[in-house]
Amino acid sequence: MKKILITGGAGFIGSNLCRKLLEDSNNYVICFDNFYTGSPKNISELQKNFPDRFEVIEDDVTYHLTLKNADHIDEIYNLACPASPPHYQRDPLFTTKTCVLGALNVLEVARKYNAKILQSSTSEVYGEPLENPQSEDYRGNVNCHGIRSCYDEGKRCAESIFFDHQRMYGTNIKVVRIFNTYGPMMDPNDGRVVSNFIMQALSGEDITIYGDGSQTRSICYVDDLVNGLIKMMASDITGPVNLGNPDEYSVKELAEKIKQLTNSSSKLVYRELPSDDPTQRRPDITLAKKVLNWQPKISSEVGLKKTIEYFSNLRNAR
Ligand code: NAD
Ligand code: UDP
Repeated sequence: MKKILITGGAGFIGSNLCRKLLEDSNNYVICFDNFYTGSPKNISELQKNFPDRFEVIEDDVTYHLTLKNADHIDEIYNLACPASPPHYQRDPLFTTKTCVLGALNVLEVARKYNAKILQSSTSEVYGEPLENPQSEDYRGNVNCHGIRSCYDEGKRCAESIFFDHQRMYGTNIKVVRIFNTYGPMMDPNDGRVVSNFIMQALSGEDITIYGDGSQTRSICYVDDLVNGLIKMMASDITGPVNLGNPDEYSVKELAEKIKQLTNSSSKLVYRELPSDDPTQRRPDITLAKKVLNWQPKISSEVGLKKTIEYFSNLRNAR
């Protein structure tokens, strides 16, 4: 059986990835998570349905990883890291440690077991981009001492560590740069734009637009993203490779779209723009199309409807 370790496996993307990988009866999945932003609820169904092929280890990647029962590990997805700005800014030093010490510790597991390892990097490595769309060649424009730098610089340093590990030890690494992703299993309270807007729209509260709402994001439905991660792992490609949906919306357009899809009476209100909030974000996915034969298939209309249904069911179950 293929043994796959997923750090951050109880988070939004991690739990969707665990579920997808468990669909293949040849896969054994180990979810490693400290539940900092992830939730046991995201994986409880998987624990119930796959007791023989799904294992959960509650622990922290900033410490040396011990995997008591593992005789072999074939693949590692390193997803452990808070991804929402309010969460990664809550304890910025811990975020940096998670990115940097986490990369070093998880790479040592890859080295020990001779496993392939994929790093979930981010569009944040491009900072406030001076090019749109952003291609992998663009080296970015990051404020190295702002409130987002714990995450942006942490992720940049993690990329550097991954490539050094490959150069020094021949580790089989893969690096993907994920752009804004959304879908079921997002924490309704984690402060990201899609979850905030949908929860506000469903409850009839004001929809909070930061700044004038002219900043843009390109949103990718999680099933598309998970397929991209699995394709990357199966490929011979090292990367970095951008994964995201190039459909670009202003935050105001997104608010209006969600208001319309939820048939909500919420008002759009404007709040202060957090510092260093990127003005525009759109992936150039030419490389992913060429080397992975990957591109998103789910339109924002369909993806947002599925996500609205998920949050609506969550509210009804409360
Ligand atoms: P998330 O916050 O939902 O999940 C992160 C998971 O990592 C959580 O389960 C959390 O408990 C766990 N974690 C955090 N610190 C840890 C630590 N020190 N030790 C062990 N576990 C720890 O976020 P997500 O959206 O699922 O993001 C997953 C990964 O993808 C992150 O690395 C993030 O940087 C990257 N990413 C996500 C997006 C996005 O739009 N969702 C965009 C770019 C990159
Ligand atoms: N945003 C907003 N209202 C909210 C939450 C976020 O206007 O309630 C904006 C935020 O300022 C940013 C964009 O939406 O411009 C995306 O924010 P998110 O936190 O989802 O991710 P980011 O891409 O900034 O990491």
